[in-house]
Amino acid sequence: GDVIVTDNLWKTYEMGDQQVHALRGVNLRIRHNEYVAIMGPSGSGKSTLMNLIGCLDSPSQGKYWLNGHDVSELNDDELARIRNKEIGFVFQTFNLLARATSLHNVELPLIYNGTPAAERTARAKAVLESVNLGARMMHKPNELSGGQRQRVAIARALVNHPSIILADEPTGNLDSKTGDEIMGLFDELHAKGNTIIVVTHEPDIAEFAHRIITIRDGVIAGDHASPRRQNQS
Ligand code: ADP
Ligand code: ADP
Repeated sequence: GDVIVTDNLWKTYEMGDQQVHALRGVNLRIRHNEYVAIMGPSGSGKSTLMNLIGCLDSPSQGKYWLNGHDVSELNDDELARIRNKEIGFVFQTFNLLARATSLHNVELPLIYNGTPAAERTARAKAVLESVNLGARMMHKPNELSGGQRQRVAIARALVNHPSIILADEPTGNLDSKTGDEIMGLFDELHAKGNTIIVVTHEPDIAEFAHRIITIRDGVIAGDHASPRRQNQS
């Protein structure tokens, strides 16, 4: 089925008496277990689209269905609830709590939704093991490499079994070898059935995905299979 369906999505920012149309009618459909990259130059609307898809913000016009639920007109509290349940975020800067262990960082989404402590710890440990960080559970971010920090962030994104992993420039702070390892981890997660959306301006990173959507001036300008994947099949 469809995880994401949008119908004529617009986002307009008011800047004093100026209006900036960051998105100008985006129609998008992403199915369960797709692996999608969203590309585009700086200022094309990638972050704005990601904020809407991730239920961090509401569209100015148009409709958005997430797993069949119309989320285009929810208030902030309703958006927060659906976001915690449906979306696993991964950021360029990892966004980990500096004073907390890997284990605690991964437990945070479960604390937020009231999961009992014993279950919380068991689930966080299991997901850290699944990203090969079983030996780093009690380490804090400053005791980890960049790639390890991003794997903690990915574990945190996965722990609630979200409908979508939404990754914004996930390799932007990593050297290219470590970045490729992180994209390899997304490959594994995709093979296990996850739906993955990676926002990036780097073509080499986008090619890890199976489908590449290009956005330009707030509209979708391209949507095709990754050349790398076509060559493989
Ligand atoms: P990208 O992520 O591709 O760089 P953005 O979505 O950040 O693009 O920005 C798209 C357009 O919207 C740009 O012209 C940007 O300046 C504008 N924009 C983004 N966020 C805001 C905001 N909060 N207020 C006003 N304009 C914004
Ligand atoms: P599929 O093509 O996968 O059988 P649809 O595209 O008909 O399913 O619907 C996907 C989901 O989006 C459904 O849960 C449906 O409720 C919701 N939806 C409702 N109205 C629309 C619309 N106008 N366009 C797309 N999706 C819609």
